Amino acid sequence: MIQRRHSVMTEIGGIRLGGDAPIVVQSMTNTDTADVASTVQQVRALARAGSEIVRVTVNTEEAAAAVPHIRDQLAAQNIHVPLVGDFHFNGHKLLKAHPACAEALAKYRINPGNVGRGSKRDPQFAEMIEMACHYQKPVRIGVNWGSLDSDLLTRMMDENNALTEPHSANEVMRAAVVESCLQSAARAEQLGQSHDAIVLSAKVSGVQDLIAIYTDLAARCDYPLHLGLTEAGMGSKGIVASTAGIGVLLQAGIGDTIRVSLTPEPGGDRTNEVIVAQEILQTMGLRSFVPMVIACPGCGRTTSTYFQELAQSIQSHIRHRMPEWRKQYVGVEDMNVAVMGCVVNGPGESKHANIGISLPGTGERPVAPVYEDGEKTVTLKGDHIAEEFQQLVEAYVARRYPTRNGTESTTR
Ligand code: SF4
Repeated sequence: MIQRRHSVMTEIGGIRLGGDAPIVVQSMTNTDTADVASTVQQVRALARAGSEIVRVTVNTEEAAAAVPHIRDQLAAQNIHVPLVGDFHFNGHKLLKAHPACAEALAKYRINPGNVGRGSKRDPQFAEMIEMACHYQKPVRIGVNWGSLDSDLLTRMMDENNALTEPHSANEVMRAAVVESCLQSAARAEQLGQSHDAIVLSAKVSGVQDLIAIYTDLAARCDYPLHLGLTEAGMGSKGIVASTAGIGVLLQAGIGDTIRVSLTPEPGGDRTNEVIVAQEILQTMGLRSFVPMVIACPGCGRTTSTYFQELAQSIQSHIRHRMPEWRKQYVGVEDMNVAVMGCVVNGPGESKHANIGISLPGTGERPVAPVYEDGEKTVTLKGDHIAEEFQQLVEAYVARRYPTRNGTESTTR
């Protein structure tokens, strides 16, 4: 059982964050926010995939003007996911010039390193906090090491150089990221932002830096923490790096919301970052989102691709059916489905799943026993094993999980 670090509870557009609230999955669009139709489409896709908060860039007058229309069009489609505005340099002006945008957003993300240069930084930061106070919005103080407050870093480097035994430049960088977060949060509170309306993030691209920085932050404050590796990368590298960094912190009880910042493949699906975030939380036993498909890796005993195709088709079927199942059945997200390649480990693993199938390996009899709740119920054979197994999964869900209106399913 993971002991979560104590943090204050805040609320982002109706989503509870911090305290004893479940760890929240969030994501960010990569559309031009001024393009209302594309942004609505992508926010809808991210929300349908399970993103509980979606961040959009608000970088221009046009983007700020578009935000309330995006919110309204989503609401017309019954999508009420909180929208967070990501601001850099001109956020103070945009929020002031576009009150409908300031009102439509559920939270403002402020990067203390990109709020303004030199003498403009403090007054522009103050203006953003004034807007947050006026509209009663929470803020995320989101430090990013790539845009770290250069004045703060320079001062801390100078102080370090004056020490008889100076720390390494990397250690000073880590300390500066933490200081930037904490000093900015303290300043926001001095300006009137309430303590329970501040979330912190400190994003870096190295896993060890991420772990060290968040461990330090977690020990020094009780603000809710947003975890994520910035510039995590593409494909498996991005997934592995994010999982390694976020996983270690979650295991230590650190983190109240996560985002997996994956660089999409050209033409790739933005919703992957939501699926990976959910899978991190679910495989760690922290939350359940979608029934898990347990599949063996395959080996020389299963030389056809049939087993891989079945595992993939079951996984897709479950993801496709989940929005409907979630509305209808209580607890279906906890279901485990096993798809195994042969009889060596297949029946054993299938027996431990809610429902499992063990396909014939090379040279084995062309039959596929199915187990439900540990008991063999049927043996499938022939050309339609995949379709028949999907039907069995559907029937299992309808029989096993109570319906949301309180009535038991008729097949139960
Ligand atoms: S269950 Fe069978 S096919 Fe799958 S990895 Fe194990 S031995 Fe190989």
